[in-house]
Amino acid sequence: MSRADRVVALLDERELDCLLVTNLVNVRYLTGFTGTNGACVITPDERLFLTDSRYVEQAKQQVTEFEHLEASRELLGDLAARLRGRAGFDDAHVSVKAHAALAEKVPDGVELAAAAGLVEGLRAVKDEAELAAIRAAAALADGAYEQLRDTGLVGRTEREVARSIVRHLEDRGADEVSFPPIVAAGAHGALPHASPRDVEIPSGVLVVVDLGARLDGYCSDCTRTFATGPLEDRASEGYEVVRRAQEAALGEVRAGAVAREVDAMAHELVESGFGTGFDHGLGHGVGLEVHEGPRLARTAEGSLETGNVVTVEPGLYVPGDFGIRIEDLVAVTADGREVLTGFPKELVTVDG
Ligand code: ZN
Ligand code: ZN
Repeated sequence: MSRADRVVALLDERELDCLLVTNLVNVRYLTGFTGTNGACVITPDERLFLTDSRYVEQAKQQVTEFEHLEASRELLGDLAARLRGRAGFDDAHVSVKAHAALAEKVPDGVELAAAAGLVEGLRAVKDEAELAAIRAAAALADGAYEQLRDTGLVGRTEREVARSIVRHLEDRGADEVSFPPIVAAGAHGALPHASPRDVEIPSGVLVVVDLGARLDGYCSDCTRTFATGPLEDRASEGYEVVRRAQEAALGEVRAGAVAREVDAMAHELVESGFGTGFDHGLGHGVGLEVHEGPRLARTAEGSLETGNVVTVEPGLYVPGDFGIRIEDLVAVTADGREVLTGFPKELVTVDG
């Protein structure tokens, strides 16, 4: 069943006559189009793809299962004319201004209906080709950690290390990084989203390194925390607590696992093991976007299913002292899970 056919199957469920897709990631997922201006309309018997003159040739190559319509750069007016009945649109991505313009231009009798999450729900379950791309992106990330282990961290600035990670990933074939790498030493690591600084990494601290590559459009996302020499006891203890929580939570990843419960278990293990916990969710889906569904979090709904790809990333943050996070990427398979991150999780000490 093609992805567009899967959308059609969902139209009925949501009592929609057609779906308008304008979010470019969703457009890419459904049509294959990678340009910066395109949209599609899917009805039970029509698949329409619209782009402007700049992308007509590219679209001919990439979009093979849709009827092509050339539009002006302002796609909305041309799109509006093609809608009919109860038309689903992506209310999570269409601005209030765009919605007003659309509502003004649709033919009489067309009702615009919120349909956020419909395509995202399909994207959360990966097919074999998507899994292969994510696996390869995760292997690139492993290579970046191997290089850090070999070249060392002490005396280099966080920013220089971050730049070297970007170069390493791009040199080995990544389209780009899937997000700017985080390199955060010592107390700076206590900020979960720390930006790399022009500060030299000292010896005897923990260094949080969170990185990912994008390959064929698909992302990876991994974190390792290195030591740069012997640590104070609290930091080593914390590392072991996070590592055990991460392994335990990873072991719970399977089809049918309740997302909220897997998250709760990891928080509980870190809190009972160390006395303080972490404020972020345990994990998130990864695919065409580095953060997508499903989530492993306190407010998450539903259960994991075969084909989901999620991160498992508990952490521990002691303000003014140190931070720790260990993040693997894992695919839910028919008989359990496939961990896509290969770099070891025992504490790796890099001296030089
Ligand atoms: Zn990450
Ligand atoms: Zn992550």
